[in-house]
Amino acid sequence: MKIPWSLPNINKKDMQSIKKVLDSGWFSMGSEVKKFEEKTARHLDIKYAVAANTGTAALDMALKCLDIGEKDEVIIPALAYIATANVVLFCDANPVFCDVNPRTFNIDVEKIESLITKKTKAIMPVHLYGQPADMKLILEISEKHGLFVVGDAAQAHGARYDDEMVGSFGDIECFSFYATKNMTTGEGGMVTTNNIDIAESLFSLRNHGREKTKWGYEHGRLGYNFRMTDVAAAIGIEQLKKLPEFNKKRRKNAMYFNEKLVDIEVPYILENVEHVYHQYTIKSKDRATVIKCLRDNDIGFGIYYPKPLHFYSHLSKYSHNDLKNSEKISQEVLSLPVHPALSLEDLEKIVECF
Ligand SMILES: *Cc1c(COP(=O)(O)O)cnc(C)c1O
Repeated sequence: MKIPWSLPNINKKDMQSIKKVLDSGWFSMGSEVKKFEEKTARHLDIKYAVAANTGTAALDMALKCLDIGEKDEVIIPALAYIATANVVLFCDANPVFCDVNPRTFNIDVEKIESLITKKTKAIMPVHLYGQPADMKLILEISEKHGLFVVGDAAQAHGARYDDEMVGSFGDIECFSFYATKNMTTGEGGMVTTNNIDIAESLFSLRNHGREKTKWGYEHGRLGYNFRMTDVAAAIGIEQLKKLPEFNKKRRKNAMYFNEKLVDIEVPYILENVEHVYHQYTIKSKDRATVIKCLRDNDIGFGIYYPKPLHFYSHLSKYSHNDLKNSEKISQEVLSLPVHPALSLEDLEKIVECF
């Protein structure tokens, strides 16, 4: 039996809520989107949540609403998803790659300050694999230098840092609801903030720069169509209810691997975080052998990421710093299935490859 790399959990309740939207005849930016935003804000204990059609759109709007533009610099980790860098380029700004910490694989907080210049506008930490970046230190640095902090929380739904929910840190945080994420709407995203000006700017940017007027169709600025459908939002509402259960199962699966794979190197987990294991990532000097076994046994796996961002041709010209840890880690990382649908048998079978 094949062990899938990821398996979205969509049940009868999700189906019913989809049907309800279809029956209602209102497919986009209606009451379900509003409800999903309100429920997300409550879940995170923050003031505003703005839904978008993808996580990338969420990140893009986040930078745009902070007026990040030409020649500005945004510090991002070198080991991240391509979207994190691409949204900086779409603002005509320059990504500045920061190496990752060799223990946590998250942005190396010790190295951020040396990268700050007069042009630096923001730091964009990624909560990689579901483990929050070291936000206390990042916020201290940003305050000292007057920088924005935009968290890429695409992999960290429900994670906590110092008992606060990821999604509530810095100026803005962004989630993705892509099919493999800890909760999904198929495609989808959400921007979260406590700042009303940012929130209003996001609502407008999402909808062609529309202003709040009685009759609509007043466009005060350049904007996008990043609107979420009500079908996606209806799924999101159900997924949000199940998220704690999903994450509990992910953590339980991760604990199983931790127990059985004692000799395998994994990222160090900070003491003040609750990791939600979007990925269970290991480091192996002999990755090819492990992959062969996984393949032979029909077990899905992933590599996050096969190369650091500065190795992509459209990003290489922004590589000026020592990024050795990111380069080395990308050669050795391998992520095992850890999703909630795995059975004990599946877990046993995966462990046998070691
Ligand atoms: C998934 C992901 C994104 C992008 O989200 P999409 O919904 O696929 O656009 C951005 N950053 C990180 C770290 C991600 O994992």
